[in-house]
Amino acid sequence: KLYNQVQDLKGNIRVYCRVRPFLDGQANRFSTVDHIDEGNISIITPSKYGKEGRKSFTFNKVFSPSATQEEVFSDTQPLIRSVLDGYNVCIFAYGQTGSGKTFTMSGPRELTEESQGVNYRALGDLFLLSEQRKDTISYEISVQMLEIYNEQVRDLLVTDEIRNSTSNGINVPEANLVPVASTSDVIYLMNLGQKNRAVSATAMNDRSSRSHSCLTVHVQGRDLTSGAVLRGCMHLVDLAGSERVDKSEVTGDRLKEAQHINKSLSALGDVIASLAQKNAHVPYRNSKLTQLLQDSLGGQAKTLMFVHISPEPEALGETISTLKFAERVS
Ligand code: ADP
Ligand code: MG
Repeated sequence: KLYNQVQDLKGNIRVYCRVRPFLDGQANRFSTVDHIDEGNISIITPSKYGKEGRKSFTFNKVFSPSATQEEVFSDTQPLIRSVLDGYNVCIFAYGQTGSGKTFTMSGPRELTEESQGVNYRALGDLFLLSEQRKDTISYEISVQMLEIYNEQVRDLLVTDEIRNSTSNGINVPEANLVPVASTSDVIYLMNLGQKNRAVSATAMNDRSSRSHSCLTVHVQGRDLTSGAVLRGCMHLVDLAGSERVDKSEVTGDRLKEAQHINKSLSALGDVIASLAQKNAHVPYRNSKLTQLLQDSLGGQAKTLMFVHISPEPEALGETISTLKFAERVS
């Protein structure tokens, strides 16, 4: 009860933290995560980061390394279902490269039903629920997939892989909006989007960690009795890696990329923080990402930020800055 009241006071922003397990063969390593309890997480900080000891953070929920995809999804499900009632929803995955953002949103490289991430499960759930309501409301569901790289928006759902519909415009009117009716449609389109993303990555490997990818689900429901139409929209955003690059080590393209990422992640942080504080002015205009999502951030819209952390000691600096970012927006 109290939890719900706190939610209301804060508007519709919640922050979940997820800790990645150690990768294969590293299971017995020392973890910087000392303790997890409901919404609390404490981190072991060696003296290099100030006083040696433990640093605690509190979020709406903390998922331990053993949390399954299903557990993570079930906490997100009510939010996702509200799209069918006409709400706008944004779900973000934030964290340094390798912390598990793509795992949460999509799943691992070799996908099984069990390992499917939030976006597959979300679409599956929307299909299921719209089927259950089909005697009263007729729903149409369609998806869009965009990538933002160096402040340029690109459509990922193009069948001609070479065509690059780079746009400086914000609504990206030419971006394909594709109707979907089943999970297999979604899997097909996600694979196409992945492939289109990879095509542009030839020059610099793994561009995916340096661009934001956004799967947008548009829902339109028509009440079969009254004819009234409702619209909801959900953005599922796998953000660029939040790690700070050492400016002394990067030049040229890498430096430009890093500056764009920095700028857009801090613009996102500023927008969510000012929504959480109920500020009168929300600085949407400072990045492509926040401009693109403006209609789905604030107002009646609901926002969920998954912040991801890696348990390895060498990630500690990034872990702490991720947790501080998360604390600021919660
Ligand atoms: P990011 O997208 O943040 O760069 P990934 O999602 O690619 O990170 O995760 C890095 C690696 O860790 C991948 O091999 C991924 O499958 C694995 N991984 C991430 N999170 C988990 C998890 N919760 N359980 C098991 N493996 C995970
Ligand atoms: Mg990734």
